[in-house]
Amino acid sequence: MKIICIGRNYVDHAKELNNPVPTEPVFFLKPDTALLPKNNPFVYPSFSKNVQHEVEIAIKINRLGKHIEKKFAHKYYNEIGIGVDFTARDVQQQCKEKGLPWEKAKAFDGSAPTSKFLKIDEFEDINNLNFSLKINGEVKQQGNTKDMIFNFNEIIAYVSKFFTLKIGDIIYTGTPAGVNPIKINDKLECFIEDKKMLGFNVK
Ligand code: MG
Repeated sequence: MKIICIGRNYVDHAKELNNPVPTEPVFFLKPDTALLPKNNPFVYPSFSKNVQHEVEIAIKINRLGKHIEKKFAHKYYNEIGIGVDFTARDVQQQCKEKGLPWEKAKAFDGSAPTSKFLKIDEFEDINNLNFSLKINGEVKQQGNTKDMIFNFNEIIAYVSKFFTLKIGDIIYTGTPAGVNPIKINDKLECFIEDKKMLGFNVK
């Protein structure tokens, strides 16, 4: 499986990093080794001094597809979860300055702790869903999927022009504002509405 991550999909986050608001989706990939095995801590990578959290709603692909039209995109996922797109911001900044790809900063082992997935019909409206990240019990990031620049169906239509989507692929749909560094011994918890979906520690 692959993890497809959408960048700069919330205006307030694009602005906080001084990035332009995109006119088409920005995306990158993480390999399956970016998933964090259940009950494992996130191990702070030795190559960075500024790993930041980006809490994001994720959807799971349940049908094989390529060149999916937006009007059919809703048939390609029926489960939703949440995850953290960990980013070595210092390494990413160096990559950006040199015009190099971001993989070192984004796709390292354990960089995508992902929750369990729930059926989307457990939620009233996935296009109006509150989600949040707490660190050590304090809310550090919160967002609502209605603020996404590109919604779930638009993302699927766009990404599937380039990649065949396969069953089990996960799409991270972008982070709202509030990204900040994490520290060793932090305890992270991710929520969709009031439901705790994911929890792990930084080691
Ligand atoms: Mg992200």
